Amino acid sequence: MNYQILVNKDNPISKEDIQENVLYPIIEREQLFYLDKKVIKQYLKLKSRVWKKTGIIIALDSAYRSIEEQEKIIKEMNQQYGEVYTMQYVSNPGESEHHTGLALDLTIYENGHYLTNNYELESAVSKFQEIYPLLGYYGFILRYPKGKEHITHTPYEIWHIRYVGVKTSKLLKKKHQVLEQYKKKL
Ligand SMILES: [Zn+2]
Repeated sequence: MNYQILVNKDNPISKEDIQENVLYPIIEREQLFYLDKKVIKQYLKLKSRVWKKTGIIIALDSAYRSIEEQEKIIKEMNQQYGEVYTMQYVSNPGESEHHTGLALDLTIYENGHYLTNNYELESAVSKFQEIYPLLGYYGFILRYPKGKEHITHTPYEIWHIRYVGVKTSKLLKKKHQVLEQYKKKL
């Protein structure tokens, strides 16, 4: 997989890219997730650095999703959060970065459990913010940051991070850019 691939509303993932995906399993919180092999390696390094540096325990809440899984999530989210919220936060099947195996949603361990409800996660925003400065060392970016909503067309999403490679993540950080700007050479 091309680590700088852009997948969004205007750039749905192609069938070829989905077929080329080479995914590996990782078990966390007694659940099975799949990600690109390199991303797993880098994620585990990030996790250990976050723990050492901040004392925060992070884990996967979502990783690779097939088109069918994305459809299922939309249905479940519609029931739990309503259609307005779901349309804002969840991409249409084919338009989600989760199809690449390069994107993952984080959760945090707090008060004896991992946060799974979106509202609980949002209330832990200050903890997530402690993690962000460490992402770049391992090739990750906060994919939908605050203040870039007009470019990403996605609301500030505190838990969704994306692997782009160390060189690109450092460049984006230096230039204060999101992936859309990098790809369009804005
Ligand atoms: Zn996500």
